[in-house]
Amino acid sequence: MPQKKENKNAVIELKDVCKTYFMPGGMSQSVLKNISFAVYPGEFVSIMGHSGSGKSTLMNILGCLDRPTSGVYKLAGQAVSDKTDTELARIRGKEIGFVFQNFNLLMKRSIADNVSMPLIYQGIGEKERHERAIQMLHQVQLDGYENRLPTQISGGMQQRVAIARALINHPKIIFADEPTGNLDSKTSDEIMDVFTELNKKGITIVLVTHEDDVADYAKRMIKIDDGRKVYDGLRSNYNKGSKK
Ligand code: ADP
Ligand code: MG
Repeated sequence: MPQKKENKNAVIELKDVCKTYFMPGGMSQSVLKNISFAVYPGEFVSIMGHSGSGKSTLMNILGCLDRPTSGVYKLAGQAVSDKTDTELARIRGKEIGFVFQNFNLLMKRSIADNVSMPLIYQGIGEKERHERAIQMLHQVQLDGYENRLPTQISGGMQQRVAIARALINHPKIIFADEPTGNLDSKTSDEIMDVFTELNKKGITIVLVTHEDDVADYAKRMIKIDDGRKVYDGLRSNYNKGSKK
């Protein structure tokens, strides 16, 4: 659980991470304020907060899509600030899978092509790409769907395709930013069951949501309010009635 001192190494470690956006005309907005926490292998963590509280900004830093303005972010024990953009892209490709609210699928490509797309950048041939896509589709219970187009399946299925794509490189961590934000509650539960299964297999999951029902799937919750961490602990100990 949070900040535990064990012999296991943290997969994610933030120390006093701040993010400020600088706008033209000398304006600036401080969006993340001295955020510190660690996540250990196999954890399932939700990051909660109101709209505009800084969740996506934090997620972009965690996923190495952006860098902190100050503070230290270590991924798998390595300080991200020491890496070049090329090195970060490689770490991202190998260690991390991403799932987004709007699925981000290529609508004119087959489901198999969507799932195997990350392998193209590694120079893996077409046959192996297709085989691996089919294995991943099996993990999200979409056997037989490989030749369909994303437009021919439901939103929940599209999100499962996106999860299969996130899994293709066998990542240690999955970052999901509001993955159920476009789905009805029954479909949301199905997607959260997929994440639960992956977590049981040992994949660390960090998931942003503003929905209580979704956060209930995660054991630990980190709450952000106006860029500050205001809660970090067991979800079950959090008083949902209080605002903080
Ligand atoms: P959340 O995901 O919790 O809704 P965000 O991290 O998207 O919050 O945004 C937090 C704040 O940072 C908002 O006020 C938003 O307008 C601002 N913000 C986000 N991205 C940028 C950016 N690229 N440039 C300037 N301000 C930004
Ligand atoms: Mg957001």
